[in-house]
Amino acid sequence: MKIVDSHSHIDDEKFDIDREEVISLFDENKIDFIVDPASDVKSSEKIVEIVKKFSRVYGAVGIHPHEVEDITDDDLKKIYNLSFSNKIVAIGEIGLDYYYDNSPREKQKEIFRKQLEIAKKRNLPVIIHTREAMQDTFDILSEFKGDITGVMHCYTGSFEMAEKFINLGFYISISGVVTFKNATNVREMAKKIKLDNLLIETDSPYLTPEPNRGKRNESKFVWLVAQKLSELKNIEINNLIYNTNSNARNLFKINN
Ligand SMILES: [Zn+2]
Repeated sequence: MKIVDSHSHIDDEKFDIDREEVISLFDENKIDFIVDPASDVKSSEKIVEIVKKFSRVYGAVGIHPHEVEDITDDDLKKIYNLSFSNKIVAIGEIGLDYYYDNSPREKQKEIFRKQLEIAKKRNLPVIIHTREAMQDTFDILSEFKGDITGVMHCYTGSFEMAEKFINLGFYISISGVVTFKNATNVREMAKKIKLDNLLIETDSPYLTPEPNRGKRNESKFVWLVAQKLSELKNIEINNLIYNTNSNARNLFKINN
């Protein structure tokens, strides 16, 4: 059985030296497909080109909250236009980050709302990044209830909050953080998320799962995330993957 990695930054410069090789090993590593989310206009443009070249790579276009400070309506127009490209399956990653506060919070909220408008207009799902900004993220997504679906990427919040996002029509995506020694809360939460609501991801090249921490993260390590979740949930790994794969296909409307 092959596995889907729902969030993998294969466009990252850390893959500039060996991107083709890494992707050529997808068969050997039993990777079905990956979705590569953007962080700014430049990476959105790069992703649009990458997905043309590699059949197993799909993409998203959008502006990460770290990068919104100098974003203009002209840039948003570019994102809108890029979203029409072949194999662009979502708007992302977008959201709020009050941990790093790289951009002013008011500007983060403004650009977040404007990108949700783009997703709504284009009828595309969204990939959400949120850090130390759970309530504001929830409040803004609630304004679009019924009009937008998506995924809470690398979710590490409470189960109670996860249920609220699920009620808005969102999937909860678990990353390699679930393997980290100190991540007891994430394991407790992940245990309770129903298979119907679950996605898995690497967030490669970041967040390398145990026991490989310190190495560059790659999509093949999504198997370690699946392995850990199947143990926690006490279900067969094939059953888990069958569900998370079909959830990803359903969310991103991929029918290959
Ligand atoms: Zn990411």
